Amino acid sequence: LANVRVPVLNQHDELSELSLLFNDMLDRMQRYIEQQQQFVEDVSHELRTPVAIIQGHLDLLNRWGKDDPEILSESIAASLQEITRMKSLVQEMLDLSRAEQVEVQFAQEETDAREVGLQVFNNFQMIHPEFTFVLDNDLKKPTITKIYRNHLEQVLIILLDNAVKYSRERKEVHMTMAKDQRHVQIVVQDFGEGISEENLAKIFDRFYRVDKARSRDKGGNGLGLAIARRLIEGYHGKLAVESVVNQGSVFRITLPLVTEPKETENKA
Ligand code: ADP
Repeated sequence: LANVRVPVLNQHDELSELSLLFNDMLDRMQRYIEQQQQFVEDVSHELRTPVAIIQGHLDLLNRWGKDDPEILSESIAASLQEITRMKSLVQEMLDLSRAEQVEVQFAQEETDAREVGLQVFNNFQMIHPEFTFVLDNDLKKPTITKIYRNHLEQVLIILLDNAVKYSRERKEVHMTMAKDQRHVQIVVQDFGEGISEENLAKIFDRFYRVDKARSRDKGGNGLGLAIARRLIEGYHGKLAVESVVNQGSVFRITLPLVTEPKETENKA
């Protein structure tokens, strides 16, 4: 696209302005194309590992495994595990691609953040009995936000799942729900490994994992936070993080409230 750029004459006329605008548009298109190329490269890279592992096991089976029940069962189990991983990777890539298309003006659904928060929190409590879950809920009534219910659920699951995955000895997760006049806030806090300042800036990038091998062991693809942030920003909200290494992390969702019409307006 660099070849199509037009020269900008150093004049303050309409033609120069138009040329600047045109070049700016080209730059944006160029960045978009580069991002897409990077995405395809990242995806190929991520898929190569499970494919190589499955290939290795099939090779092993082919050469020695057919008559050795131990190799047979081990290789089948390992291959199935990699296929499960590929399936989750493909699903998460689809989720990310859909999250990128979310635009609040098209969202039809109004969701009670209080109810969804309580439901996801209770589910986690049931699934992880070895953890202590502490809830600090300031929301006394339904708290309506304009977001698809399953999107809010998905974001909360990603954050709570990470809080559990990256915990250490202190198996404790805190969730806080509160609101001010215009926003609802849901905070998920853990007391686990924490994230260094250098990594904090990158954890929302797709496929970024602080420790690739460890995250992979825990079933992570490095897409969860990228999906979560895109979804929340798509609904004009914010997803922020604070963290201290070896002490833990705090993830904070802020979503705009659907404000109730004032009483005077109702009577009019
Ligand atoms: P993953 O599938 O690897 O968990 P995410 O996108 O959800 O992918 O997170 C990206 C990376 O950010 C993780 O690999 C991990 O290194 C780091 N991370 C996310 N949440 C936490 C947390 N609560 N505590 C410490 N590190 C975290």
